Amino acid sequence: MSAPLHDPSSAPPPELFEEVACILCGSERRAHHTTAQEDLTGKPGDFTFVECQDCKLVYQHPRLPIEQIKAYYDDEYIAHRKQQSWGVLTPFFEWLMTKLDRDKDAVVSRYVPMSAESRVLDVGCGAGGFLVHLIQKYGAQCAGVDFKALAPQIREQGGAEIDFRCGTLSADLFPARSFDAVTMWHFLEHDYDPLGSLAIARELLADEGRLVIEVPRLDSLTHTLYRDRWPGWQAPQHTVALDKAALLRMVEQAGLEVVDYLPYGAYPGYFYVYAGAAFVLRKGKGIDLGKAIFSYLAGQILLSPVMLFERWLNLSMQVVVCKRPSASG
Ligand SMILES: [Zn+2]
Repeated sequence: MSAPLHDPSSAPPPELFEEVACILCGSERRAHHTTAQEDLTGKPGDFTFVECQDCKLVYQHPRLPIEQIKAYYDDEYIAHRKQQSWGVLTPFFEWLMTKLDRDKDAVVSRYVPMSAESRVLDVGCGAGGFLVHLIQKYGAQCAGVDFKALAPQIREQGGAEIDFRCGTLSADLFPARSFDAVTMWHFLEHDYDPLGSLAIARELLADEGRLVIEVPRLDSLTHTLYRDRWPGWQAPQHTVALDKAALLRMVEQAGLEVVDYLPYGAYPGYFYVYAGAAFVLRKGKGIDLGKAIFSYLAGQILLSPVMLFERWLNLSMQVVVCKRPSASG
């Protein structure tokens, strides 16, 4: 069971991968969908996504076992990146990152009014930026879960009062019904047991609580444009690629009731427009984030008139807002 940890600087050998049945319906009838590469940092290897022949879910198969995937979440991974290393652009990068936190707040606040009484759990909280924002702006009571041991980074960011749990989301971490909002920003598509995590999140919601989930959208313009270089594959970390129908089916199958669906997210749709173009040009060799920031900004300025209409363009993101089903009280 315990194979030695694979070093991602070489392609993982076939025997390292595990078979996995459809994570929605359990079927093992599948057809090839897309072969993707690790386009962000250029780590070698081909990773396969298949389409379930019974429920049409697109998921990674075979996949690296969970204990092997952690090596792919290194410091290049932007959600966990320390923010001091951007030279003269550091203030701008920080502004961008806090803008993302402000935009997440704007989405959540539409469904759950935030105050000092609000209890918020961010699943896959990374370095905790969103929670720190909620504490600073509202004095909210915040908890976070991430499988990376990021407690020092969270403290460094001013999140000392966050109730941080390192590991995966499990039923015994927090008492039932203890949160007004549970958020999953780009967590679910990384999860090895998304249905299980959704069911736990459902039990953690207070009676009027809301679960807010943002994931990349497979049936989006950027996927149509970039196909196998679509940034939403993010292989090998992403276990699943969800279109709107699959996302709604997944939350309903986990016993949640859909309150709202948005064809955009807090995460800028432009990021996938830019990254997909860069991935196509680089053909799997990875991009240097430090250098890319200049062309990223130039493109952002160039496309800013188009991005005003982001909410209607179905570029790349989607959000679903859920609650406990009314019947279960
Ligand atoms: Zn299926």
